[in-house]
Amino acid sequence: MLAAWAVMRRENLNEKGRRTRAIASRLAHAYPDIRVPLRHRNIFELLVATILSAQCTDNRVNAVTPELFQRFPTAAKIAAAPVEELERIIRPLGLFRAKGRSLKHCAKQLMERHGGKVPSTMDELTRLPGVGRKTANVILGYAFGVPAIVVDTHCRRLSRRLGIAKNEDPNKIENELRRLLPAEEWLGFSHRLIIHGRRICQAQKPKCEECVVNDLCPSSRVSSTEAATQDPRS
Ligand code: SF4
Repeated sequence: MLAAWAVMRRENLNEKGRRTRAIASRLAHAYPDIRVPLRHRNIFELLVATILSAQCTDNRVNAVTPELFQRFPTAAKIAAAPVEELERIIRPLGLFRAKGRSLKHCAKQLMERHGGKVPSTMDELTRLPGVGRKTANVILGYAFGVPAIVVDTHCRRLSRRLGIAKNEDPNKIENELRRLLPAEEWLGFSHRLIIHGRRICQAQKPKCEECVVNDLCPSSRVSSTEAATQDPRS
């Protein structure tokens, strides 16, 4: 087993691109469905659900959004809502005061600057309260079909373990991944890294023996002989 950094120093950009495309192909077979798991009926609801998902699971967000969207279905309604009422509904998610404030301020700005609609550029999105680059990439990629890479904690960890990114900063990782795959694959690849991180390459105990890319991963705990005897899937 080679350390991820050693592989990265040895590989040139073309070689790393080839390995990344092989990883992307295996993960696409393993996880063909890349629908966003946050329940929503329109772009505004996706934005709200994504803001709420910070440091929280999608299932917990999906448990509170039906009431939130039923009571406050538009930016105008959230902008006018008593913040205490927003907080009451989203309380189970944690950080409910900060998230409640972000929702209200974000909705107000949507009303003041965008006529209540969600904008479709990175610049406009990241000017909204509570919207960082990760949330903006979710909206651009899933709602507007703009090539986007969503770097969350799983994508960050896997990119580094797989030796396809060396930086720690999510924005820099996004730039590193952009160079390795065609734009039309960015969203699917980052989505699948997130799923793979949740199910297999977990932070504490990665299940390398079950991993479909263990022979392409410099951090694998499976010996190269064992990995090579598994079904070749790329
Ligand atoms: S081989 Fe192990 S460390 Fe590498 S991606 Fe798979 S689970 Fe993660």
